[in-house]
Amino acid sequence: MNISDSETIAGYLATMDLERTLNIADADLVFFHTCCVRDSAESKIVGRIGETIHLKEKKKDLIVVISGCMMQQPGAAELLSKKFPHIDLMIGTSNLSSIQDLLEQLIRNKDKKNKFQKTQIECFNELNSKFNENDDVLRSSWPNAWVPIIKGCNNYCSYCIVPYVRGPEISRIPENIINEVHHLLKNNYKEITLLGQNVNSYGNDLNSDWTFTKLIESISNYDYKYRVRFMTSHPKDLSQDLIEAIAKNNMVSKHIHLPIQAGSDKVLRLMNRKYTQEKYMNLLTNIKNQIPGVSITTDVMVGFPGETEDDFLETMDVINKAQFHNAYMFVYSQRKGTPAASMPNQISRLEKMDRISRLIKLQNSISCEISKKYLNTTYEVLVDNMISGEIYCGRTDNGRLVKFKAKDSNIIGSFVNVKINYNKGSSLWGDII
Ligand code: SAH
Ligand code: SF4
Repeated sequence: MNISDSETIAGYLATMDLERTLNIADADLVFFHTCCVRDSAESKIVGRIGETIHLKEKKKDLIVVISGCMMQQPGAAELLSKKFPHIDLMIGTSNLSSIQDLLEQLIRNKDKKNKFQKTQIECFNELNSKFNENDDVLRSSWPNAWVPIIKGCNNYCSYCIVPYVRGPEISRIPENIINEVHHLLKNNYKEITLLGQNVNSYGNDLNSDWTFTKLIESISNYDYKYRVRFMTSHPKDLSQDLIEAIAKNNMVSKHIHLPIQAGSDKVLRLMNRKYTQEKYMNLLTNIKNQIPGVSITTDVMVGFPGETEDDFLETMDVINKAQFHNAYMFVYSQRKGTPAASMPNQISRLEKMDRISRLIKLQNSISCEISKKYLNTTYEVLVDNMISGEIYCGRTDNGRLVKFKAKDSNIIGSFVNVKINYNKGSSLWGDII
C-alpha cells in the first residue's frame, strides 16, 4: 500500500517537472511517506528524517516533506515538527491530492532571507469521503502494477491504527479500475495486484451489485498473458464465490494472503477479529480442497495484551496445523488511541521476544519443509527483477519467489519455465529450461 501511494506521490511530483533520484545527496526535495502500523516502522522513519538535518545544513534550499499515516495521528505532526523544525511540509492521508498546490505555495512563501518558514501542517481531521483518482501514477514496479481498489477499513481490530488514520472503507468505482487494468495490460504490464486492507469488502459501500468476485472476474478475461493477484483478505469475509472464481480462472494467481493473527479464541475475540480458530481452519481446508496448488501465507502476532503462555501455545499449534507457505510475524505494538493499548495485562518485552523467536523458528522450519516439496518440479515463472549480476527472480503462479540464473535482462517481464533444483531455507532456486 505504501509503495502504491508512493508511486502516486511520485506521479504528482513528476507533473511538476521533478525527476526521481536514487541518491539522496542529489535531491532538491526529500519526501517521506510514513507508516504507523507498528512502532518499528515509526522509529525507522524518525531515524531517516533525522538524517536530513545535515543535508539541509549543506543545502539550504532542500525541501523536506512528510506525509502518510503517521501525520494523521492526533498531535503527531505538531510533535514531529517540534522535534524536527527543519521539516517544511507535513501532509495528511486525505490531503495528498493537494501536493502540487502545497509545494508551489511553499516555494512562493519563502521569506525575505530566502529561507523556508516554519513547518506547514496540512492534515484534515475529517478523512476524505471519496476515492481520489489519479492518472499520473509514476510506476516503478513493472512488470507488476499495484492497483488500489478500496481504501480505509471498517473492521476496527482492537490493536490496529489503520481505521483511525485511513478512515472508513471507500471502494473505487469499478469502471475506473477496469479501465486502468486494461490500460496497464495494453502497456505491457504482466501482473496486476489489487490492493486493499480488506479486498473482500470491495463494493459494500457502492450500493450496487459489485463484489470483489465480480471485479476479479471482470478483469481476468482479457486476451493477454498476465496474472491477477490481490491482498489482503480478511478471513471473516472471504466468500465461497471467490474461492470458485480463483479456482476456475487461469489468470488469477493461486495465492491467498489470509492473516490469522492468533490461535487462541480468547485472543481472537479480544482482537475483535470476528472468527474462531475453528472457523479459520475450516476456511483453510475449503480453500486447499478447491484450489489445487494454492499457497497460503499469513500475518500473525505475539504478545497481544492478556496473551498467556497457553494462548501462545495455541498460536504455535495452529501454525503447525495450518502449514502456511510463509508468514509475516509481528510483536504486538501498543498503538495510542486503539482499544488494545489500554487493555490490562500488557506483555513484557522480554516475554514478547521469547515468543516471537519460538514462533519464527517454527514457521521457518515449516516454510523450509514446504519448499522441499517444490524440488525437481518445473513451474512457469514471471520474471520480475534482477537481484544481482546474472541472478534474476520471479514468481510462480501461486506466488512463490524463485531465483535463477539468466544472461539477458530482456528476460524481465517474460514468462519462463524454471525447474526448481534446490532450496536455501524457504527460498527456491532453479534453472530455466
Ligand atoms: N488489513 C490487513 C493488514 C493490515 S496491517 C489485515 O487485516 O490483514 C498488516 C499487519 O500488521 C496485520 O495483519 C497485523 O498482523 C500487523 N499489525 C497491525 N497492527 C499491529 C500492532 N499494533 N502491533 C503489531 N502488529 C500489528
Ligand atoms: Fe487493521 Fe483489522 Fe483493518 Fe486489517 S482489517 S487494517 S488489521 S483494522
